[in-house]
Amino acid sequence: MRITTDHVIFEMNANNQPAALVKSGERLVFETLDCFSNTVKRPEDVVSSIDFSKVNPATGPVFVEGAEVGDILKVTIHEINLADYGAIITAPGLGVLGHEVEQEETVICQVVNGEVRYRDFTLPLRKMIGVIGTAPAGEGVNTGTPGDHGGNMDTTAITEGATLYLPVNVPGALLALGDLHATMGDGEVVGAGLEIPGEVHLDVEVIKDSHIPTPFVETADRYIAIASDETLDAAVERATKNLTTFIEKEYLQTFNSTIMLLSLAGDVSVSQAVNPNKTARIALNKNIFDHLKEIPAEKDTPVMSDLDDHVAEI
Ligand code: CA
Ligand code: CA
Repeated sequence: MRITTDHVIFEMNANNQPAALVKSGERLVFETLDCFSNTVKRPEDVVSSIDFSKVNPATGPVFVEGAEVGDILKVTIHEINLADYGAIITAPGLGVLGHEVEQEETVICQVVNGEVRYRDFTLPLRKMIGVIGTAPAGEGVNTGTPGDHGGNMDTTAITEGATLYLPVNVPGALLALGDLHATMGDGEVVGAGLEIPGEVHLDVEVIKDSHIPTPFVETADRYIAIASDETLDAAVERATKNLTTFIEKEYLQTFNSTIMLLSLAGDVSVSQAVNPNKTARIALNKNIFDHLKEIPAEKDTPVMSDLDDHVAEI
């Protein structure tokens, strides 16, 4: 089923009218406007000319049949197709150096042969979805703000081939998405990626009785817990807590074992440092668990006393 940009929302809200009723397991295509509702097309279209009531449109929402409060919505992202040009903007007050920006500026960039042309630079295409989420319980959240429901997470890991797990807070989940980027660096320091219209091909599936913490991304290689909060410190703490809880349950590890493992092998990243809530994530390679099925049960973990004899050799 194709969900067109005839149906966009600016707030993720339990009371939004569904754009479509879809089945668990169904393949969907979401057409998306860029984050400026496709109004920025030339260098003259600077930030002060933008209608901020139409920023961050999210296409949808879709009501997924059978999704009940407490379930998890599994979203498998198969394909992201983009328009052939997008916009990057800056303006006083925007982004982490906004206080130093003296003049607003818009640069239109072509997307050609899998590359982004920015001024004289050629950048690799790094397609991603900036805004994707379900409706929160209770009060709505505008599509510019990330939270536990997802939303404006601006997380580069949310891309083709990734599986995103989102909470079902209201019947039907009410999934919506938009704000595609042709490329964006982690942190999104000016507050924009290469903002671009496009379409996303994905599957939705309702998962019952899962301990997966949300929002959560799984790729072929990695587990990635995402959290958004008022500060990056708080977001890092909550993402780490979520991945810890997941590893404890999935691999029957103790809390201490898990947090030390994450300190040894988990990678914390800033997803974005510029939105009303900040978003961080922590990733862990899945292949470190491969040996668990190979270790004989009776084999003891080495203790420090066993290692003392070898210290002199190190
Ligand atoms: Ca965004
Ligand atoms: Ca954006």
